[in-house]
Amino acid sequence: MQAVILAGGKGTRLAERLNGRPKPLIDVLGVPLLERQLDTLAKQGIANVVVLVNHAADQIEDFFASRPPTPTARLIDDGAPRGTAGAVLACLETLEERFVVVYGDTLFEIDIPAMLAEHEASGADLTLLLHPNDHPADSDLVEVDENGWVTAFHGYPHPPGADLRNLVNAAFYICERRALETWRQSPAPLDFAKDLFPRMLAQGMRIRGYLTFEYIKDLGTPKRLDKVERHLASGVVERAGLAAAQRVAFLDRDGVINVQRDYVRTPDDFELIPGAIEAVRMLNEAEFRVIVVTNQPVIARGEADFDAVHRIHARMESLLGAGGAYIDALYLCPHHPDKGFRGEVAALKGPCRCRKPGTGLFEQAANAMKIDFDASWMVGDSTSDIEAGRRMKLNTILVETGTGGRDQKWTVQPSHRAADLLAAARIICAPAMKPTMAQGSDT
Ligand SMILES: [Zn+2]
Repeated sequence: MQAVILAGGKGTRLAERLNGRPKPLIDVLGVPLLERQLDTLAKQGIANVVVLVNHAADQIEDFFASRPPTPTARLIDDGAPRGTAGAVLACLETLEERFVVVYGDTLFEIDIPAMLAEHEASGADLTLLLHPNDHPADSDLVEVDENGWVTAFHGYPHPPGADLRNLVNAAFYICERRALETWRQSPAPLDFAKDLFPRMLAQGMRIRGYLTFEYIKDLGTPKRLDKVERHLASGVVERAGLAAAQRVAFLDRDGVINVQRDYVRTPDDFELIPGAIEAVRMLNEAEFRVIVVTNQPVIARGEADFDAVHRIHARMESLLGAGGAYIDALYLCPHHPDKGFRGEVAALKGPCRCRKPGTGLFEQAANAMKIDFDASWMVGDSTSDIEAGRRMKLNTILVETGTGGRDQKWTVQPSHRAADLLAAARIICAPAMKPTMAQGSDT
């Protein structure tokens, strides 16, 4: 595997911190960013590195001359600013058949073999790393279908009322060289996200979204640089690695995050419970992975199809995102055990492992990440939620909103009770809140 580092940026917005250096050489806790990137790549066995330079190329050359030689690091400077995609296209014929594209202003701790495995298994032409952030309204968002294939790119500003999932292009790609060959002669400058990806999609190329909670942030402004340094120093970066067991707040949806109704069939039926945004944001900042686990028998009963439910979840992510909160994953059970509804979907009728209190949804989450169950929580409004949490040996909180435990289907005691999700988040975060986590986040 080869890595291509886009190291041509000037870093105008970082000028006060650069002391005349180009952005890839910015000091991050005493180590140049480029050095950190090369280390992260080398740890994963990637020593074949191509560095595309432009601005202040001589300083980057000096940097490489002064450090132990990376086996096959190669600098390419063709003198012209071509944009991110333009720079790669200009040297495409010298690259390997498959390479990872890294931006020279990001600090990342990504398990590249794990991303590569998914890229290979899918047969994608290109895989983009996606993650939610706390300001999706002013981010470029990517739309993916239920199988993970990218279907659209939405640059900001987004039209009012656009229900878009909080999936942000993190600027980290695995690329097949053959997929880019069509565009080798395209006039520069050419940007990957703005220009090339939409064209690839229009030509029917297969672009995959790889959703991860792992750490990747750009440090293009002094504020972001400070934050990344804080995260490095306090262990946030390391704790977000796939090797680390994650603390999870599993949240039920109806009656916990949103107001319970007989039917939530369209985005307009979805109304957040007061305090839900603050609660989720608090969990995000305390480094809990927020995972929604929800029974949606409306699908089996034929009252809403998968597409409608996805639009409802896009609305949920938009509403949360407007307040700086995000969910890391969502698992739903579309089944319903009893037959006999008009318009029902026969294939989804019958018993299943995933309908809570079944544990299938939690097991799906555990397959996708390493979970520290002892330090994780289930928040729900029904005894089924609490029973599911008990079966998974989670700490459980029954909230008074929604059903408020009045279903009494299961005789089970929650470990805590709370008025609502916000009160529950305070219980969850009480021992976990660290001073470094309480400083807010902006990227
Ligand atoms: Zn199910």
